[in-house]
Amino acid sequence: MIDGLMMDFPLTLTHFLRRARDFFGHHEIVSRKGDKSLTRISYADFYKRCAKLAHALRRLGVTRGDRVATLAWNHSGHLEAYLGVPCMGAVVHTLNLRLSPDELGYIAAHAEDKVLLVDASLLPLFEKFREKVPSIRHVIVFDADSSKPLPDYATSYEALLAPEVEDYDFPHLGENESCMLCYTSGTTGNPKGVLYSHRSTVLHALGACMRDNLGIACTDTVLPVVPMFHAAAWGLTFASVATGAKLVMPGPHLDPTSLLELMAAEGVTFAGGVPTIWIGILDLLDKDPKRFDLGAMRTMVIGGSAAPPALIEGFRARHGLEVTHAWGMTETSPLGTVARLKPELQDRSDAEKLTFRASQGFATVLVEQRHTSEDGTVLPWDGKSMGELEVRGPWVARAYYGGEGKDRFTKDGWFRTGDVVTIDVEGYVNITDRSKDVVKSGGEWISSVALENALMAHPAVLEAAVFAAAHPKWSERPVAAIVEREGKTVTDAELATFLESKFPKYWLPDAYVRVAQVPRTSTGKFMKSKLRDQYGDVLTKK
Ligand code: AMP
Repeated sequence: MIDGLMMDFPLTLTHFLRRARDFFGHHEIVSRKGDKSLTRISYADFYKRCAKLAHALRRLGVTRGDRVATLAWNHSGHLEAYLGVPCMGAVVHTLNLRLSPDELGYIAAHAEDKVLLVDASLLPLFEKFREKVPSIRHVIVFDADSSKPLPDYATSYEALLAPEVEDYDFPHLGENESCMLCYTSGTTGNPKGVLYSHRSTVLHALGACMRDNLGIACTDTVLPVVPMFHAAAWGLTFASVATGAKLVMPGPHLDPTSLLELMAAEGVTFAGGVPTIWIGILDLLDKDPKRFDLGAMRTMVIGGSAAPPALIEGFRARHGLEVTHAWGMTETSPLGTVARLKPELQDRSDAEKLTFRASQGFATVLVEQRHTSEDGTVLPWDGKSMGELEVRGPWVARAYYGGEGKDRFTKDGWFRTGDVVTIDVEGYVNITDRSKDVVKSGGEWISSVALENALMAHPAVLEAAVFAAAHPKWSERPVAAIVEREGKTVTDAELATFLESKFPKYWLPDAYVRVAQVPRTSTGKFMKSKLRDQYGDVLTKK
């Protein structure tokens, strides 16, 4: 055995922070505030503010490994916490502002957060769980309005930073030290903490920058629509700082008009968000195709739940916009698989190509994939065998913070995703369901995702979510919740006819319910548990 003679240069975020300052000092981070006005800060000034934050935190007694929580929308101050906190050796913990006060109280107490950085507009939310988190000793308020007094326990972020100097002797950190803590949305059981390391985060950011993945580069203008409290904004933030890409932060304005205005005005080349965001955006573009100039857009990454083929194709065919479909989880930092069309598949029919691009794709470099049956047997990549997707790699969690959820990690070193998939001969993964959303009808599995994708291709359907309803004979049968497009209606019989040619008869939903909007989870995905609660007995009541 002979060791290589290369430097043991730790993979830490401090390198990204310095690099952005040194080479892209003039590139901007643009943030939209609550009142819709824009603020701009250069990476050179950003570095200085991260340094000031590091000094201020040290003054407050924050030391290596302490958790510093954020409760904030996407803006440059939040990004200062993303870099300033880990680079001084502490851990930034992003709290999801869409969770209930009870859940937030549980999570912040579990993490033993010591400091909280919070948007002024979210102070009332914090008030509701403050008493549950005695570990929080300092509350710092972003964007505090000088005309309104802060509560006596809080300090203004700007006042905190003001006296500090603009450089910091950032410590030499080990690359395996933790940098960020992020809890999963926790639709079953308590939320679980995923503790990213500097090394995993740096490798993930580099992975995201590969052309085969998201291809983020210094020439890009990146709009993370995905919130910074959802899986580190999919690492788009770190990838942008690493490459010096311009960042555009949408603040709290996530409606289609506000987002499209921002994309056009700032020349956004890359944007990322969950399908529900893009469904609204495509609908607005269809209604008013000339209103927004998206000429700069290179690609839009859609993930977090399955992007319907009709959505991907609608952007391409009607607006010339390319979608990149990717799959990931908080536990996988989150990039796991990306649906890139391999060159050898370019001469397939358009319909087939769309099938590949609308699949979850195949594992990115440094991630490995397999799927297993319930007894743990590794299944063949034949496009038919259905099993649970498992992944491993340097940016995949090996345990949860605090040790919960041990059953999600296999003895031979893989992470069990809970997603039920098939994998085809080319390695493309197709998610048929989250295991808890699978419809089990008379012992057969019916894919709710496949039915939803098909329904959302109907011209009168804006959103569709298929869920399991109780059935006296078959135990469960699929029921579809439908949101009709403005000014359009569709009958149940028309929907059934539309699906008939695409699926076996027993797959067709037993009932269709009309809803104004499919309920969303805290990260903007369709919340099927709520539909099940509300309509789970429609078939037994009939
Ligand atoms: P979270 O950790 O909250 O981001 O949730 C991760 C889960 O979201 C995965 O296990 C999948 O069930 C789902 N998911 C993420 N991306 C996709 C995708 N592209 N297609 C289908 N489901 C997805």
